[in-house]
Amino acid sequence: MASGEKFDCIVVGAGPAGTTCAYALAKAGLSVVLLERGEKPGSKNVMGGILYSTILNKVIPNFWETAPVERRIVQKKFAVLSDDSEVGLGLRFEGFNKPPYNNTFSVLRGKFDAWYAGKAEEAGVMILNEAVVDKIIMDGKKAVGVKTRLEDGDLYADMVVVAEGVTSLLAQSLGLREKHVPEHMVTCCKEVIALPKEAIEERFGIEGEEGASLEYFGGSVKGLVGSAFIYTNKESVSVGIGVSTNDLKNNKLTPNDIIENFKAHPSIKHYIKGGKLLEYSAHMIPEFGYDHLPKLAIDGLIIAGDAAGFVNMNPLYHEGSNLAMASGLAAAETIIESKKNNDFSEKALAGYRRRLEGSFVLKDLKRYKGISSFALKHPEFFKEYPELLIKLAEEFFTVSETPKGKSRMAVIKKGLKSVNLVKLAIGMNRARKVMF
Ligand SMILES: Cc1cc2nc3c(=O)[nH]c(=O)nc-3n(C[C@H](O)[C@H](O)[C@H](O)COP(=O)(O)OP(=O)(O)OC[C@H]3O[C@@H](n4cnc5c(N)ncnc54)[C@H](O)[C@@H]3O)c2cc1C
Repeated sequence: MASGEKFDCIVVGAGPAGTTCAYALAKAGLSVVLLERGEKPGSKNVMGGILYSTILNKVIPNFWETAPVERRIVQKKFAVLSDDSEVGLGLRFEGFNKPPYNNTFSVLRGKFDAWYAGKAEEAGVMILNEAVVDKIIMDGKKAVGVKTRLEDGDLYADMVVVAEGVTSLLAQSLGLREKHVPEHMVTCCKEVIALPKEAIEERFGIEGEEGASLEYFGGSVKGLVGSAFIYTNKESVSVGIGVSTNDLKNNKLTPNDIIENFKAHPSIKHYIKGGKLLEYSAHMIPEFGYDHLPKLAIDGLIIAGDAAGFVNMNPLYHEGSNLAMASGLAAAETIIESKKNNDFSEKALAGYRRRLEGSFVLKDLKRYKGISSFALKHPEFFKEYPELLIKLAEEFFTVSETPKGKSRMAVIKKGLKSVNLVKLAIGMNRARKVMF
């Protein structure tokens, strides 16, 4: 490759958004270079590990037959913890054991991203690893290329796609997005812990290629706004926490304090007992919300994935990978159309936002846009109420010689005395509106 070489499109970042975009463009016959700052795709990436794959299955049908997925998720659990107890809801659906496996797989990004980038390469994408992009090259108001740290590293193209993930310094340097504020960010850390396959199957009640995802709220993250998770891989489990950066700062806690506390909980420690730490990583998740999205396109440039803040904030889903892929695909479709008309202006690229508004990406972001302000205004849903629920449940199920009618009435009375019912009703109503 010679300095100054011109492509149809330069894609920055080989995560789910960038690789999907590059793959679809190459399949359509466009010349594409995919630039990744890591030594290989996936080497710098952190994710809890649940890949939602409706889009991937469109891009590469039946991808699970060749992709390095870990397990298909057939079993789910949602639970609240107090300091030492748990109340939870377990779900298992046999239908999720059949193709397309509810489009939900656990993955390890180091393996998955490398495989996906390999598929893009087979489709004709040129991949350059260790290619950090420092700057977008502008000609007036139009993006025309990128400055990389490679030798002779200026590259030019009709289009640049910024898919560099949450930090998104390039979008920020162009003034396309607001500066990160702690209120719109989630701080995460994650460990991958090796365990024998048999131990995983026995502890989580799964077999063969089945997998489980477990999500914990309340005391799992010391009552902060956020949650903790355990996902099963083939021969390891991914354990992590994600909490509001604002809450973390205000409570003077570190992500490490929280994950260590979670792993030591009586409900959790038996899952990871005897495991060997393979990997520790920390990362952020953007929760900009629909009202704080960046400008998604300017002349010659589109922003996709986490760089644009496309993460579904609803804690029941924790979706980011599929929104990243959907936005990468929408970017590719828009660029293919622009290429046909030889028009890469902001106006011609408006189809990108239109496609996203018509898909689950912006429909879901709009639907759940109130979640983060709800969470910040109602901390009682993360600490006080989970603790009370667990206490009352424990008393309800405590065996004694008190007649059942009397003991149950005592629990109900205690519950009614412990909460401000008006505040609870208002909060529940708001929770219903923002989450369902
Ligand atoms: C702890 C944690 C748990 C999560 N769990 C889940 C989950 O279970 N399910 C889910 O769907 N989502 C989850 N997410 C969110 C999900 O990881 C993201 O939404 C998704 O990875 C976004 O994809 P992306 O391609 O936009 O960005 P990324 O995956 O971040 O990829 C960006 C790529 O760009 C590269 N890059 C960055 N800057 C440059 C540069 N200047 N030059 C060149 N390359 C660059 C990076 O190295 C990286 O490879 C989780 C996130 C975290 C942090």
